[in-house]
Amino acid sequence: TGMIIDGKALASEVEAETKVRVDELAALGGRPGLATIIVGDNPASAMYVRIKHSACDRVGIRSENVNLPEGAGIDEILETIRGLNEREDVSGILLQLPLPRELDPARAMAAIDPAKDVDGFHPMNMGSLLAGAEGLVPCTPKGIIWALERLGVDLEGKEAVIVGHSNVVGKPLAAMMLNRNATVSVCHVFTKDLASHTRKAEVLVVAAGVPGLIRGDMVRPGAYVFDVGINRVGGRTVGDVQFDEVIGVAAAVTPVPGGVGPLTVSILMSQTAKAAEMKMKMKEG
Ligand code: NAD
Repeated sequence: TGMIIDGKALASEVEAETKVRVDELAALGGRPGLATIIVGDNPASAMYVRIKHSACDRVGIRSENVNLPEGAGIDEILETIRGLNEREDVSGILLQLPLPRELDPARAMAAIDPAKDVDGFHPMNMGSLLAGAEGLVPCTPKGIIWALERLGVDLEGKEAVIVGHSNVVGKPLAAMMLNRNATVSVCHVFTKDLASHTRKAEVLVVAAGVPGLIRGDMVRPGAYVFDVGINRVGGRTVGDVQFDEVIGVAAAVTPVPGGVGPLTVSILMSQTAKAAEMKMKMKEG
């Protein structure tokens, strides 16, 4: 039976590394700061932002949240972002999604200073990633890449299969895996015969938001399986992978909760430190 990948333990390692960097920055007078923006009163968004702020407290990153009212328009959001772009003490800006109503997240993301875009969603950072230069990149895929390195899994020449082609997870992860010379397949809701793809995967990442989508017989023996899904089912949080079945087939699987989630938050911390380091280097010339 396979190993359970302890996302919390991996996240603690990332946070410990980050804290050292934050302390150095603070000693040079540039303690990193993270500003989050929530629009409206989505309880899930409030919870995610709380989790991110607690991580900031643990590593010594200053944090603040701007909560705009449910009825806020795009101009109000853009105005808030511009104000944070200007501020010396704000190294990273994170707009918590989803936005209410018809508000266009892409327009808001594009207004964030690319050098403060700690979520890596700005088109310039997405473009750099695709071109092979990984500056500030999306946190969830970066966390998976970090975990694979830490587990000693070299992606070069590996069959990697990603289920889900969102801008947040699937697409940026595909780019990161290609940058490391894996053979990458990206499946999604229109994929015919999903199992024929997933069965080939030496590294399988599932980000579909469909509870229990991946059964044991869809997984290649010895695979590394990352379950990104977060689904509420009958008051419990479950992933997209049938953990009990898949753990018997795979080499290693991330649990939900306690897998990819905490890792993602810890990478947000390291990217906020990275943004602050980049700014410090620019000032030094
Ligand atoms: P999304 O919700 O925007 O899109 C879902 C993707 O899955 C699409 O590509 C869709 O085509 C595909 N899909 C849906 N049903 C499918 C099916 N039956 N078979 C194959 N593919 C299918 O994607 P997202 O924003 O990446 O979120 C995916 C899941 O990951 C959600 O549960 C979300 O909550 C979770 N998530 C977790 C983290 C984390 O930090 N752990 C971060 C981001 C997202």
